[in-house]
Amino acid sequence: MKMYQEIVLKPKKDESLRRFHPWVFSGAIVPTAVMPAEGEVVRVLAADGSFLGVGHYQAGSISVRILSFRDEPIDRSFYRTALTCAYRLRRQLQLVRSDQNTYRLVHGEGDYLPGLIIDMYGDTAVIQAHSVGMHRDLEQITSALKEVMPSGELKHIFYKSEGTLPFKAGLAAEDGYLWGGEEVEAIALENGLRFHIDWLKGQKTGFFVDQRENRKLLEQYAAGRRVLNMFCYTGGFSVYALRGGAVRVDSVDSSSRAVSLTNRNIVLNFGEEPRHNAFAEDAFRFLKEIPEGKYDLIVLDPPAFAKHRGAVNHALQGYKKLNLSAFGKIAPGGILFTFSCSQVITREQFRLAVFSAAAISGRKVRILHQLTQPADHPINIYHPEGEYLKGLVLQVE
Ligand code: SAH
Repeated sequence: MKMYQEIVLKPKKDESLRRFHPWVFSGAIVPTAVMPAEGEVVRVLAADGSFLGVGHYQAGSISVRILSFRDEPIDRSFYRTALTCAYRLRRQLQLVRSDQNTYRLVHGEGDYLPGLIIDMYGDTAVIQAHSVGMHRDLEQITSALKEVMPSGELKHIFYKSEGTLPFKAGLAAEDGYLWGGEEVEAIALENGLRFHIDWLKGQKTGFFVDQRENRKLLEQYAAGRRVLNMFCYTGGFSVYALRGGAVRVDSVDSSSRAVSLTNRNIVLNFGEEPRHNAFAEDAFRFLKEIPEGKYDLIVLDPPAFAKHRGAVNHALQGYKKLNLSAFGKIAPGGILFTFSCSQVITREQFRLAVFSAAAISGRKVRILHQLTQPADHPINIYHPEGEYLKGLVLQVE
């Protein structure tokens, strides 16, 4: 077996690893003269020399991301096994069907592969590395992926990590196709609806795969309603609302690129659609200017207001303000779908922010559904940080 450099933890710093939490923080490590190279696989040992796990080393606050709690090599066969499990779960979840081929195949810690995201859009896999280790292992990952995926389900692999890897000298993470790339059909199916996916320039891997089930739920509420989809990005909620029988749908995003992507997706599904309009505007300003009662279904799906712990209080004020303006404008009997995707904000904190907004508005509000991320974004129970998407469906009298 290949010899991996060893990292030794300070006394009593092994507890979280023994509970299978996959991160080793820099303060837990006994410094040595020669630290491992960025992205190298290391063996982590407790102060008494006992084995704890193998993982990717990276200088920074999270110094090691554990890949296995068994003393095993991290090689192509390791990735083959991990990807096989990941694919099998998505099959069990019935995410691969004739009318549905958009799903997350690998969700980092949730699939025991910290630092790795793989989204499937039809026969294209978009790989995103969030750690130098995954970047270094890319070749093993792609060859394992080709072995694991049934033929016909994978024809192209696009690598999109320029924006997610820390900039380090010698790290050449250029976005581009690793495999295939000719005659790509960049259209994916979600619950029978079609979406152009822009993995070349779009946000994340090109689409917000995590809202699939919540969009489907919205479809059930759309009939006969006037819908406002705030922070629409590529228009996911708008497309479902139109199929669900909304009488009108207005989509708003501050990015004009997002607005044109939304319009393209409406045309792709419905052709000319007089019920739909899209506006490139700031959400807060838009909400302020519309008359009360203009909409009876509003979606608020903003970007993460808090990216780190220091920003939590400011972010909670932001959620409160945003929801307050929606409570102020939604028609009586209206339905509000409101979300937070900030990982550092807990479900309770978010709910409290929405509660405060409701209380200030003075309206009667009931919670109909409490929403989260779908099962192809699993949460490793030992890694609660993996739970990030929170949503409430409210009825507002
Ligand atoms: N609901 C979308 C995902 C939303 S992502 C979906 O289902 O796909 C968040 C979006 O908010 C981004 O497209 C971003 O351009 C937009 N955005 C960020 N700040 C904004 C603001 N102040 N007003 C309007 N849109 C904003």
